[in-house]
Parts: sequence; structure tokens; C-alpha cells
Amino acid sequence: MRQKRAKVYRKLMGLYSRSFAFRQPYQVLVDSEMCKTATEHKIELVKQINSVLQGDVKPMITQCCIHELYLQGKSQQPAVDLAKTFERRKCNHREPIPGDECLISVVGESNKHRYVVATQSQPLRVKLREIPGVPILHDNRSVLVLEPASDATKRSKEYREQQALQPTDSEKLGLVASTSSEPTRKQKKGPKAPNPLSVKKKKVESTPAANASSKGKERPNSAVRNAVVGEKRKRDDADEQEASTNGQHSAEFEQDERKPKKKRRRKPADPTIVET
Ligand SMILES: [Zn+2]
Repeated sequence: MRQKRAKVYRKLMGLYSRSFAFRQPYQVLVDSEMCKTATEHKIELVKQINSVLQGDVKPMITQCCIHELYLQGKSQQPAVDLAKTFERRKCNHREPIPGDECLISVVGESNKHRYVVATQSQPLRVKLREIPGVPILHDNRSVLVLEPASDATKRSKEYREQQALQPTDSEKLGLVASTSSEPTRKQKKGPKAPNPLSVKKKKVESTPAANASSKGKERPNSAVRNAVVGEKRKRDDADEQEASTNGQHSAEFEQDERKPKKKRRRKPADPTIVET
């Protein structure tokens, strides 16, 4: 089989697998005419089916189809022998009916058992094309051919894909519950402020007032920043203010320090009082 055709068949079987849940081994219903053709043209039928479907296959024949071969006498013995190697599909037709009718009834309206049908009957193929999801094989000059997807198959595939996109009933219930219980969120929000962490800090103009308030901590750092190697830093007004306020701070600090010291002295005194 040529590379291009193999790719087409692989895609086609992919479609049947995805949209119609075909699984290996593929069950292939072979009709009596196909058995005859295979033996007459010395085709290795099962091998060809295998390579066309590109997977494991289980060839089958219905009771009615093999009965058709029996009716044709000794001349069709090779076809009977071939058919006997296939799995017998019980069709429960007590009186054998024509093979085409038998296969139509076995496939049913929806091909729920997922059969592939290998048939040489043109009228049967026409009927099978109306049933979505039926891969059809036929022999064309000793080459087994897998028909392209029928219109019914394509429509059904598209419908199934649409259905798959819709929420299921249980999902719908979930959606309704979640929307009704949750309060409707405010739709309108003013212009969003940018994330403060991502925004470059504004340069604070060093006004004297600002310096006076935030001096104690910030000043030493800025002094280091301003210092240029080998150059004396000029003392400005702000520094003078800083110096004066620093002095105040230290004075206060000392006062704070003294208080706990006094307490410490008192503590050891107390137990001595208790002793005496
Ligand atoms: Zn039958």
C-alpha cells in the first residue's frame, strides 16, 4: 500500500475511533461475494484487511452469508473454506435470507456493535452509507479499498463534536447552582491603579520640612551616598539642623536609659525588706 493511501486510511480509522468509539480488534463482517472474490483472485483477504485498517481485526461471517456459499456447491468450496476460518456471527435468521438483507439487519440503524463491512455488493454499500459510522471495504482489482467517510458519517461526526462541546446535564446544574448562590460581582470598577510594587518610586524632593521630620534615620545613609571619594562633603543647612536635632534625640535617649536603671536598683532591695 502506498504511503499516501496508508495515511488517508489511518486518518479515517482515527475518525471512527474518536467519533464512533471503534476499538481493536475491529470486527469485520465479510460477505459471501467478498469471500468468492478473494479466493478467485488469490487475495490474502485477512492480511489486506489488516493493513488497510492498520490494526488487529476479527473477520466474521453471518450464518446467512455462509449459507449463500453452501448453496453454490462444490465450485465455491475454497470460498467456504475461507469463510469457515472466520468467526460465525449469529444473526438469528431461522430461514436464511439474502446476505445483503442479513448484513443490514445485523448492522442495524446505528451500527452499535461497530462493525466494519467488507462487501462487493453495490446496493448494500449504498444502503450502508446511509448509516453513520460504518467503515466499508470493497475489492477493486485485487486491491482492498476503504471508502471515504459517507455524508451520514460526516454529519454524525460533526453533531457528536458539537455535543461534546456542550456542557452535560450535570455540568449545567453545577453552573446554575454556582451562579445563583454567588452574589453578582461588581462589573464597574474605576480605572485600575497600577500594582504599587511594580511602580517606580517617586523621587521625593528634599524640602527642608521633609528633612526635618525624617532626619534621624535617613540622613546617615544619604551622607554616605553623597560622599565622593577624595572630596570633602560640604556641610549644608540641612546637616546643621540634623546635628542639632540629633543632639536632642540623644538627650532624650539618655533620659530613657536612666529610668530602667533606677528600677533595677530597686528590685534587689525588695527581697531584703522581706527578710528583715
Ligand atoms: Zn442472517
